[in-house]
Amino acid sequence: MTSLWTQIASGLCWVFYGSFFEWYWHKFWMHTPRPPKEAFRGHTIVHHGRYKGDDSYFVPEGEHPEHILLKPYALPGIVVAHLPIILLINYLIPYTAIGAVVGIVLYFLVYEYMHWNMHVPRGHFVERFRWFQFLRKHHHLHHKYFQKNFCVLFPLADLVLGTLITERILAHRKAEREQAIANGVIAQERRKPRRADREARELVKTHLFGASSADRREKKIRAVRAMLKTVKNRNQP
Ligand SMILES: [Zn+2]
Ligand SMILES: [Zn+2]
Repeated sequence: MTSLWTQIASGLCWVFYGSFFEWYWHKFWMHTPRPPKEAFRGHTIVHHGRYKGDDSYFVPEGEHPEHILLKPYALPGIVVAHLPIILLINYLIPYTAIGAVVGIVLYFLVYEYMHWNMHVPRGHFVERFRWFQFLRKHHHLHHKYFQKNFCVLFPLADLVLGTLITERILAHRKAEREQAIANGVIAQERRKPRRADREARELVKTHLFGASSADRREKKIRAVRAMLKTVKNRNQP
């Protein structure tokens, strides 16, 4: 019986870890053009290119959704990559390995199910729940603000690591800014840069610290801009 509770406790720990893992993977692999670029291409270029922060976030009725689920090898890959640490923990704390694997698999499957339903509103029973509405909005904001709300399923890591935004936070910031303009603290509202430029710059600024020279950095900026432009053109009718 003790072993069962140990396995359950282990699974729960891995669920909490899952929030930080999806944050890390999403930010540093799906949003970063680092080789192999498959995760970046599939997510930033294709998924974000097709589903944006406007109405295109939702797949229309009658249209077959594409590019929402992760690649079939993602789950086995995640489990295999974590096996050494799972086995090490199981050696140090017996009866934890099965709970760990179950926790990872369940997290992944629920992630896929939730992400699908966030983009495909078909009146599924899960859409009735307020927590689902919150998560759908949370992910919708990620599609609008690339560098925020990296967690899809469990936004704990967004909260802890300072990347959480909600509509309330945005409204508060807007009110603060308007007040500052009214008070003359900010002379006038600066024109926002074009979204494609902003996204490209954020991607580069956040992730490409490794660039050793200005030339190399410029080259990468141009590469990301070219990729984003390709997506834009592809989405035009
Ligand atoms: Zn993303
Ligand atoms: Zn999405």
